[in-house]
Amino acid sequence: MRSAVIADIHSNLEAFQAVLRDLEEQGGADEIWCLGDIVGYGPDPRACIQLVRQLQCRCVAGNHDWAAIGKLDTSAFNLEAAAAAQWTAAALQKLDVDFLAGLPLTLQVDDFTLAHGSPRAPIWEYVLSVQSARANFAAFDTRFCLIGHSHSPLLFELDSRNSCREQRLPEQLSLKTDSRFIINCGSVGQPRDGDPRASYAIIDAGQAILWHRRVVYDFRTTQEKILDADLPARLASRLSVGW
Ligand code: ZN
Repeated sequence: MRSAVIADIHSNLEAFQAVLRDLEEQGGADEIWCLGDIVGYGPDPRACIQLVRQLQCRCVAGNHDWAAIGKLDTSAFNLEAAAAAQWTAAALQKLDVDFLAGLPLTLQVDDFTLAHGSPRAPIWEYVLSVQSARANFAAFDTRFCLIGHSHSPLLFELDSRNSCREQRLPEQLSLKTDSRFIINCGSVGQPRDGDPRASYAIIDAGQAILWHRRVVYDFRTTQEKILDADLPARLASRLSVGW
């Protein structure tokens, strides 16, 4: 089975569509796994939700999905994120709200656990250190866990001698291993690792390989839409630099 892993689309339709085109060029996937934050920050929340539904993605909830439907208080958000959450809440219709409200916090598919932030605190936690990764390896039962939330492609490995290390997610990763992995495939719609290209992954379970893909997309159109919608200007400018 081949699966595509997408996370943190953040209402960026141009990035989402470019990823889907790239996925087709790479031979497609049997399933798409979506790790939350479909909405927030960007100008096309409804179109992105519709596309996720149409593609029948297996999907978990992210903090911005909850914020947009009033399930999470935005007082912990920075000003721009909170403004975008309010704007998104006003843009959504009941069908969209019902869909986001129904998303689970985690999902298990074969050897993979899917969560937005972390398996132990799916809505809240950023896994950005070996210390937090180590604690999280105890919080899921499968061999691999796929996460988003930090928008940074990262790999945490717990090997058979119980030693834990961190590295950037390589372009190709063998899953034929005795190790356990927590894998962040980066963000589709708002990359934050200094590379403005959309980020996602394809997993071929038969070959036991994960490919990390980066995809050029037309961020200028997204930027124009953000400014036209009167969303905070910095949410547009950051897309040029991948931050
Ligand atoms: Zn996010």
